[in-house]
Amino acid sequence: MNYSYWEKEYLLADIDFLVVGMGLVGLQTAINLKEKEPKAKVVVVDRHAWGLGASTRNAGFGCFANVSEILDDLENDSVENVYATIKKRYSGLQKLRSKFGNQNIDYQELGSCEIFTKDNKTYLNQGIDSLQGINTILYHELKLDNVFSYRSNNPLPNTIGAIHNDFEGQLNTGKLYDTIYEYTQQLGVKLYGGIEVSTWDKTDKIKVQTTSNYQLSTKNLILCTNAFTSKLIDEDVTPCRGQVIVSERVENLPCKGMYMYDSGYYYWRDINNRILLGGARNMDIDGETSFELASNETIITELHRFMNEQIFGREIVIEYQWSGIMGMGKDHKKLPIVKELEPNIFLAARLGGMGVALSAEVAEEVVGLMI
Ligand SMILES: Cc1cc2nc3c(=O)[nH]c(=O)nc-3n(C[C@H](O)[C@H](O)[C@H](O)COP(=O)(O)OP(=O)(O)OC[C@H]3O[C@@H](n4cnc5c(N)ncnc54)[C@H](O)[C@@H]3O)c2cc1C
Repeated sequence: MNYSYWEKEYLLADIDFLVVGMGLVGLQTAINLKEKEPKAKVVVVDRHAWGLGASTRNAGFGCFANVSEILDDLENDSVENVYATIKKRYSGLQKLRSKFGNQNIDYQELGSCEIFTKDNKTYLNQGIDSLQGINTILYHELKLDNVFSYRSNNPLPNTIGAIHNDFEGQLNTGKLYDTIYEYTQQLGVKLYGGIEVSTWDKTDKIKVQTTSNYQLSTKNLILCTNAFTSKLIDEDVTPCRGQVIVSERVENLPCKGMYMYDSGYYYWRDINNRILLGGARNMDIDGETSFELASNETIITELHRFMNEQIFGREIVIEYQWSGIMGMGKDHKKLPIVKELEPNIFLAARLGGMGVALSAEVAEEVVGLMI
């Protein structure tokens, strides 16, 4: 297909900032750019009609930390990096809430709860032993008192104890994406789906090549391509697929709020009288290292078993099932990558498994490098 004179010379011409990726990071990057430079032409492109990676397929945990993850991360990364990531998530969550409104995104601060069974009693003991130390650091970093607390009673089957974080909340992923998408459009940012960037060339301007064989030219290029970044450039970002299931509607749910189990490998929450459950990636790490939005039957079967036995204590019908792709670093690295790749070309990626809250912070950071 040849693009028309009008498309070439008007719709896609004279771009000041071309953002690649219509996920939460790409959209908020465009918002920050347009707010700082109202006259600039800001265009966001995505290979799909709308962002189709993680941002419309996640569980909606407005989360920043859980004890098992902190203990795991401290074994693999520096103390500075572990707490810097938590601080970014917490600060990002507050930004999302204040900019887009608790009501619009359906934010409910019901807290989160990490449960333990006799199978992971050792983790529970390690968690309890570390609570005070972690709470002290978090007090200094976030100015929040007693972020984590231990409770022995929990209504879920087989549970021997739980560690709570009362400062986290759940949100509605669909409403969050919709609100941000609408906000972006209202500012006059152009959002074009169905354009996949393949390469670029830099002379006086940046000439961006797409898979539909058309060239876009822009003064600045910002890659917000998360898991898919390593298809374009050599960076430490690995695609990690995650599976999600949602139960039938049930009158009296066994739990409300956000829950985790097995170092966060299993996570669930209530949504409209249903339970949304995701995870179990550790059952097939190799199989889930994939760019494809596909189902993994071994994991879906395990999630269904977990839903029946650990959450409801009875057989439950599954009505929705999907997957999404996260971008993770090797060796458990959690800090996102935000940097200038070369003059006028930037990267904001590797949001990991708790990227919703992080997205606001990362978008602000990358724009800070530009303007
Ligand atoms: C199953 C699942 C559950 C999750 N649950 C939670 C949760 O409860 N809480 C939480 O905080 N986080 C969660 N996350 C993580 C969170 O969703 C992500 O970290 C966050 O959405 C990342 O946003 P992003 O904009 O960086 O990436 P994405 O939303 O993946 O956006 C990247 C976009 O770039 C586009 N793209 C890539 N390459 C190209 C190209 N060459 N040309 C054009 N377009 C391109 C893609 O199509 C995609 O739309 C979850 C993720 C998954 C998969």
